[in-house]
Amino acid sequence: MEESKRRILTPKEKEIQQYVSCVEEKEDKIKKGSQEVVVRSKTHVEEKTSVEEKKKRKHTEENLDNNKKIKLDDKEILQGGVHGLREEQKDKKRKTKRPRSPEDPLEGGSGYKKPCLDVKRPAPLDIESYRFHKDLGRGSFGRVMLATFAPKKQLVAIKIISKKTNKSNYENIKKEARLLKMANSCPFLCHSYAAFQSEIQAFFVLEYASGGSLYKMISRKGKLPMERVKFYTAEIVIGLQFLHSNGIVHCDLKPDNILVDMDGHIKICDFGLSAEGLFGEKMICRLSGTPGYRAPEVLIMNDYNAGADWWSFGVIMYEMATGNLPFAPSVSALREVSTIKSSKPDYPSHMSQEMLDLLSKLLEIDQKKRLGVKGNIREHPFYATIKWKRMEKRRVKTPFRPKKPSAGELPAISPGFPADSSKREKVEELSYVASTWNWQE
Ligand code: ADP
Ligand code: MG
Repeated sequence: MEESKRRILTPKEKEIQQYVSCVEEKEDKIKKGSQEVVVRSKTHVEEKTSVEEKKKRKHTEENLDNNKKIKLDDKEILQGGVHGLREEQKDKKRKTKRPRSPEDPLEGGSGYKKPCLDVKRPAPLDIESYRFHKDLGRGSFGRVMLATFAPKKQLVAIKIISKKTNKSNYENIKKEARLLKMANSCPFLCHSYAAFQSEIQAFFVLEYASGGSLYKMISRKGKLPMERVKFYTAEIVIGLQFLHSNGIVHCDLKPDNILVDMDGHIKICDFGLSAEGLFGEKMICRLSGTPGYRAPEVLIMNDYNAGADWWSFGVIMYEMATGNLPFAPSVSALREVSTIKSSKPDYPSHMSQEMLDLLSKLLEIDQKKRLGVKGNIREHPFYATIKWKRMEKRRVKTPFRPKKPSAGELPAISPGFPADSSKREKVEELSYVASTWNWQE
């Protein structure tokens, strides 16, 4: 009789059986292609493994430096977890390793529901490592907060984007991550330290530009002194040329997306609307950008490429020099383009001839004739005094240095993240720690 073969399990055996069924349930889900991670309260078996695990974790965290991929594979975890199981059971677990993305050191890790074995994320990829202080800005896609990376007491800006349940913004999040990584190679683009995600949000850890945006500066001061206009626009030229030479058109260049860092240098940010792969003659056709800054070819839905950024650049230069926009903005693209075609910007009498000439060449309706696309903007007489090589290395003295912020003085607040915990899929290829960030020091 089957019944007679049964014997009463010891508490230890019961625990092991419970553990095995949890692992098998997890494996079943993986086989079915489910991303779901099984949530289960800790058993004694798991608790026993925690000392071993802690050692492995420490080792793992030490290895994360300089974009080294950490290997926390199931084998390591299960070796601790299945301690005491029969050999064939162990083998079965080893053969059904969870597939992992090489980009994501802890894919499916603690940013999601708690897995069977409680694996801690390394410090820069764990939201618990950051203390939030205040909102720095909100745009159409995200919210940016000032925060401190607690282990280093370093101020950072964190861009937080809610993951849409229908995944409609996943491609945008991935694009922003790709472009932020590339931006780290140019001194006038906003640098990123790390990126990671929770169940409902994507986080980009950025360098904190304590001088704020040009939008705030222009709103506060009105027009800016001419030396400042020259300096800032020259640094923007270098940043834009870097983007364009890498086939990227920013597509939403405006003072809100141009920041000043703590040394007083320019940082172009927000690659949410950028277009990639635009090398040579390749063009795109889509209405994007912000009223007041969009080029005529964008407004009439013509094909365009880098020239659209040079138009926006001309608008920004005019705004810095006068405190006003050259053309009245309108939410109606057709009205905006008819204003551009039917009116001339009001050039004030105090404006230098060099600037007048430069602006008229940037605010050129024909994109093929526009300066930036045609001719070398660095050679324009307006920039005659600029030492481009020194400027590229950030060696030119900045016209204004913002106050140096200190992490210690700022009170911590609750970021007030939404309580919505409805299930979202993971955004692939998102987690990274920049090789240039010495987060362990
Ligand atoms: P969105 O894509 O939603 O427009 P942005 O990246 O443009 O988001 O950020 C919104 C605002 O947050 C910016 O206009 C700026 O004021 C502020 N901000 C963004 N990044 C930083 C940063 N690194 N340092 C300081 N402020 C920032
Ligand atoms: Mg923005």
